[in-house]
Amino acid sequence: MKKTIAVLFTLALSALLSANTASKEIKLSAELIITEIETDVYLVTHSFPWPGNSLIVKTGDRDILWIDTPYTPDAAQNVLAWINQTFGSDASVTEINTGFHIDNLGGNEALLKKEISVYGSDLTCELLKKKSPSTMAKMVEWLKDEKMTKYRNVYASFKFYPPNRVFNINKEQKIKCGDEEAIVYYPGPTHTYDNLVVYLPERKILFGGCMIVAAESNKPGFVEDGNLSAWVVSMDKLSARFKDCRIIIPGHGKAGDGSLIKHTREVVSAALLNSKTSN
Ligand SMILES: [Zn+2]
Repeated sequence: MKKTIAVLFTLALSALLSANTASKEIKLSAELIITEIETDVYLVTHSFPWPGNSLIVKTGDRDILWIDTPYTPDAAQNVLAWINQTFGSDASVTEINTGFHIDNLGGNEALLKKEISVYGSDLTCELLKKKSPSTMAKMVEWLKDEKMTKYRNVYASFKFYPPNRVFNINKEQKIKCGDEEAIVYYPGPTHTYDNLVVYLPERKILFGGCMIVAAESNKPGFVEDGNLSAWVVSMDKLSARFKDCRIIIPGHGKAGDGSLIKHTREVVSAALLNSKTSN
């Protein structure tokens, strides 16, 4: 009898646990998944075709901070619909772009259409004009496989929209959203010349974006728009500026703890050494 009760209890508990995990992952489509990583903090992963992260934080009764966007306006529109459904039709969204690549701001068009404030740096605007065509041409080339036609078609004729709230990249920003203030910090060139981070001091959450390499990865990714030796120095500046990060969100892959800055420094240093010995 005792055993039966124990088994029933275990079954009930595991049902509860799986229901709990299931409710924390919201699948808007096969390519677009939202995971609640803790209360009011949602990781949005868009795989188009490579998985890329943006982050949504509920910072007030009606206030939503969104850092970076999915790759496309369609996906951004789907997430906006989810925001309104989940937090109310009067939810007010503030967006921060952390770089000029499509995985940082490809969704801007959908946000600007809704008159959402989209913050981004002057250098992001400049690189968007100067470098986007060549960067996108490279991506189209990587997608030449027939299985990738859907993505290639979107990328081949992609139209970019710059942020509508532009600031000097060298001036640290404090952006108020709801009850919180987000710190926008530029440590210097990294994976691109314009990548920024966003820090939420009350939560000790750092959105590191594409300048942070996930724990499960040992490669710095696409580096042609960046600078490896400057990247190492920038990681030292970043760890000196934000000493007590509890959670760090990389641009690609799983969220991690404060050690992701050190991990990134190691990965980038190794890639730098490699590039020097192969030259
Ligand atoms: Zn990226």
